[in-house]
Amino acid sequence: MNPRPIPVINVRGSPREMGQQQGEAARAQIQRSLTRYREVFPQALRMTWAEGQLEARKFLPYGESAFPPFVEELRGIAAGADVPFAEVWTLNCYEGVIESRDQVWGCTCVAVRDDLTANGHVLLGHNEDWNSVDQDTVYLVRAEPADQPAFIGITYGPLLVNIGLNEAGIGVAINAVHPADGRVGVPRVLSSRAVLNTRTIGAAIRACVPKLRGGGYSYLLADPAGELYSVETSATAHDILYGEEGWLVHTNHYLAARMQALEEPGTYTSSHVRLNRARRLLKAQLGHVTVPSLQVLLQDHVNYPRSICLHQDPADPLHERTHTLASAVMDLSERILWVAPGPPCEGEYVMYQLDGES
Ligand SMILES: [Zn+2]
Repeated sequence: MNPRPIPVINVRGSPREMGQQQGEAARAQIQRSLTRYREVFPQALRMTWAEGQLEARKFLPYGESAFPPFVEELRGIAAGADVPFAEVWTLNCYEGVIESRDQVWGCTCVAVRDDLTANGHVLLGHNEDWNSVDQDTVYLVRAEPADQPAFIGITYGPLLVNIGLNEAGIGVAINAVHPADGRVGVPRVLSSRAVLNTRTIGAAIRACVPKLRGGGYSYLLADPAGELYSVETSATAHDILYGEEGWLVHTNHYLAARMQALEEPGTYTSSHVRLNRARRLLKAQLGHVTVPSLQVLLQDHVNYPRSICLHQDPADPLHERTHTLASAVMDLSERILWVAPGPPCEGEYVMYQLDGES
């Protein structure tokens, strides 16, 4: 039924080895992605691809200092895909390089505690909304790191895996946010990848707030005990929101007053509409939330095309078109990930187990 099943890549070993295997297996997706960004980059950023690489190069010492294994993983990805590391690095810094260019990205995240779901499992849902140039470069990685927890997650192009869950049951999803204090520093993608190496919710929170950050996401974190956190970060500040009522929803504007003070001026209309809609849909099912009911929530079309299930708007210029590239629902109690190619209303969710074959 799925018109575009998502490829699954299995990797294992050291960071360099895992990157190399990811790069080799996803070479076509990575090369396709880079080819397109070379075209859209100048339109989107009013700088050349070469200038973008020079800008991204400034972030490298910070990444190497904070998270050396993941820079090694990226060097492996570049080698495996037979593309320059500088280009791979540039896309992993993309949101840092574009920081001042006020493009608002999407993504909707929800998390529910075990006592509010039908089967007593902790669930986390996420729609990954991104530039439509990556619509056919999405893939799933199942990893067995040499000295770290096994994990499974989704990514696209040459990006590190940074949405998924690990064998300790730690789940991570991210929302782009738009603070005004962006600077050259540690790229945020490294933090969400780092969460997948953690075994406790505390370590997961710490991974989101390294010193000398270049910018920030809102990270939605959850563990099998039902501890739910939104860690809202920017380059110079953060706030930690707890899912005291047993559920959390996040989109693309800050919820903490401390962080709102740093936010770029704007209406964030789509983000507010998606947040309120997801909250309403979730609250209506508290006590009996299921994996399928979260999948339905993630396929919602209120405010179409800028809905939770985000579709391209033909009125937008090509380089600004975005849609839901992939939709994920995680069962952190069972270490299971359901993924649908996006937009999820057009695809079918497929189940992937951490230690499975499929
Ligand atoms: Zn849709």
